[in-house]
Amino acid sequence: MTTNYNKKAIGEHQLKPESLMMGYGYDPQLSEGSIKCPNFQTSTFVFKSARDGKDFFDVVSGRRVLAEGEQAGLVYSRFNNPTLEIAENRIAIWDGAEDCAITGSGMSAISTTLLALSRPGDVIVYSEPIYGGTDTLINGMLKQMGIHAVGFMSSEGIDAYKAALDKAKSMGNISVILLETPDNPTNNLVDIAACREVADKIASDQDVAPVIAVDNTMLGPLWQTPLAHGADLCLYSLTKYVGGHSDLVGGSCSGSKALITRIRRVRNSIGTTMDSNTAWLILRSLETLKIRMQASNEGAAKVVAFLNEHPVVTRIDYPGLLKESDPQYAIYKKQCKGAGSTFSFEVAGGEAKAFAVLDKLKLVKLAVSLGGTESLAQHPAAMTHSGVPKERRDIIGITEGLIRISIGIEDPEDLIADLKQALED
Ligand SMILES: *Cc1c(COP(=O)(O)O)cnc(C)c1O
Repeated sequence: MTTNYNKKAIGEHQLKPESLMMGYGYDPQLSEGSIKCPNFQTSTFVFKSARDGKDFFDVVSGRRVLAEGEQAGLVYSRFNNPTLEIAENRIAIWDGAEDCAITGSGMSAISTTLLALSRPGDVIVYSEPIYGGTDTLINGMLKQMGIHAVGFMSSEGIDAYKAALDKAKSMGNISVILLETPDNPTNNLVDIAACREVADKIASDQDVAPVIAVDNTMLGPLWQTPLAHGADLCLYSLTKYVGGHSDLVGGSCSGSKALITRIRRVRNSIGTTMDSNTAWLILRSLETLKIRMQASNEGAAKVVAFLNEHPVVTRIDYPGLLKESDPQYAIYKKQCKGAGSTFSFEVAGGEAKAFAVLDKLKLVKLAVSLGGTESLAQHPAAMTHSGVPKERRDIIGITEGLIRISIGIEDPEDLIADLKQALED
């Protein structure tokens, strides 16, 4: 058998990401033949010579640029680690990216990216609603550092986006356009390609074009690949679908080598990197990413079909239910390969009924987070989005009867049986 650990094709035949997840980037002969990439649980690496040590430091600190195909020498696990690097290379494959930097959490992927690309006086444009932690970061800490922000409602489409860009331009240099699509918890979609086109028009007015970053946590690489639609960066909370087992916290950022090198340098400096044990768990998770996401996607479609016929359910925010007449439908068809498995539904009877349903669930667990093998349900108005003022929640559609559910990989009929009994009076 020939070593094929860093090849993405057999002859002319290109291998699919799911096939590459079991071996890509890992040479068993470097680890006693171990079939699995070990967890390199070490803080530091022994240099063969002082000259090597000097050279490796020149590379990690950016004083020397690697030649094509050359690998950075291992120095210290805040900078690099084999388990971490193999996980990065495999996530880059899913995202169709040149490079990827993984971080200790989704929030650290977002904060490291924004810090790497913005200077005081710059403006960040972002879609709303956006993940609560991201909102707090942008409108709290970053504002204190003199980095401004302008939001636009994802439900209001491209005109709202254009107005936000105009406003932002009048305030300063636009550093990053951060999109979260579909939004959470109402699943409105933002047209990434259209955002790219408008951003390119304003790029000529600025010294540097704004970087378009998409938080792709909700659909994951199976159902949406933002880089293929014109985004520069694809961000994840790996805690959700990619990790997929509700047993780790992590994040990642994929994109061009040039951008990821800038982000990685900031990560290595401020220390938002991921530990090797979590990176090892990510390698485990990546092997089953496709089958997990397919199973939960199919399960969600069945659960939605049940809820859609239920008399107590007054609204379902699920992209798979979009009507052709809805402007969002065209975006969905162009940009998404599946509807995902996290969606919200509203029950008649407000908070009291929603709480009663949540308290009666037996198989579905009452917890925040999403994207795990087990189904989770929660009440956005009282839980994940309780920090959003009520008037804003009303505008966004986060009503008192709204329940968000993340469908796992249980048998869909079992989930339907659970929801059926929970919805009964
Ligand atoms: C959970 C989540 C985050 C934050 O990720 P952590 O891993 O919890 O830091 C960011 N964006 C979205 C869309 C999320 O769901």
